[in-house]
Amino acid sequence: MGEVTVQQRLPLSDGKSIPILGLGTCSMEKPVKGETIKAVKAAIEIGYRHLDGAFLYGNEDEVGEAIRAKIADGTVKREDVFYTSKLWMTYLSPALVRKGLETTLKNLKLDYVDLYVVHWPMGLKPSEKDLFPEDANGKILLDDVDICATWAIMESCKDAGLVRSIGVSNFNHNQLEMILKMPNLKYKPVCNQVECHPYLNQNKMLKYCNSKNIVVVCYSPLGTSKDPKWFDPENPIVLNDLELKKIGEKHNKSPAQIALRYQVQRGVVVIPKSFNLGRMKQNREIFDFQLTDEEMKAVDGINRNFRYITMKQFTDHPKYPFHDEY
Ligand code: NDP
Repeated sequence: MGEVTVQQRLPLSDGKSIPILGLGTCSMEKPVKGETIKAVKAAIEIGYRHLDGAFLYGNEDEVGEAIRAKIADGTVKREDVFYTSKLWMTYLSPALVRKGLETTLKNLKLDYVDLYVVHWPMGLKPSEKDLFPEDANGKILLDDVDICATWAIMESCKDAGLVRSIGVSNFNHNQLEMILKMPNLKYKPVCNQVECHPYLNQNKMLKYCNSKNIVVVCYSPLGTSKDPKWFDPENPIVLNDLELKKIGEKHNKSPAQIALRYQVQRGVVVIPKSFNLGRMKQNREIFDFQLTDEEMKAVDGINRNFRYITMKQFTDHPKYPFHDEY
């Protein structure tokens, strides 16, 4: 398998492009110090050119250190690496958007990020200190920010050269529509990054985004981490699905590889997280086979609209995205 396929890209509406396979860097298990550096360096060495991160994940300093090390040793140039970061919920008010991005750049020690996305459409009380600011009774403090006002500052960050492309994450189609209908819209979101895997195939969102030339980036493509600290034992496990196993056996591939191939074959960007070299390698070995139309339909058929990342604690938020069907 050549690097050409691993580094296959999809065009973005602003004239740039995004590698279809990226490495997720969010470790639910809270990585031990140095673990992210090691994983990101290894990923770049084996051909990954797209890294998905966020201020929230608390390890952008290590991601940045790894990228800079791989540039310094000549493995890649800065322009070969596509790094995505995300504006956290406490930074949605227009006065804080640029601050949020600058904090990320400072942590990374990079001059720009390739893609900056609004992490969630829901604002929390502005704070540079707390990720989830609370009142004296421990109640999380919500903030109903106008997402169009947030978006206007995202556009100015692109104009300032701090970010190459701008997009959103976890927006429902009505929230996307609000941005697209902004009277002074300068740049439309290049992507919507959403949870997507065979148990939540997001067919309606994908159809909507395709019609607007917005790329879907699919997070938790393997059905998230199964860390018992947060994974409900009652949840179904995507990678144990018998249909994925059966199709995998035909192609001599794992259920994970089938779940990833399904997405890239329908034009969706995937960002599986692994900090394990063997699994990182496995997840990139999805370009040397093809699923038949019947197999694609069979994977579609196991959809159960099951969401792992529900953000249940925010169902009362006026901008909670998952009350709408898509
Ligand atoms: P994934 O669906 O990518 O699953 C990751 C888990 O699967 C890890 O526990 C990993 O363990 C394991 N794994 C990886 N490869 C394999 C394999 N081949 N076979 C079996 N197990 C495997 O979950 P995430 O929720 O981490 O999503 C991926 C990325 O998406 C995140 O890291 C983050 O960058 C992004 N994300 C964005 C969100 C948003 O709101 N925009 C929300 C959630 C995630 P190990 O490391 O040990 O291999």
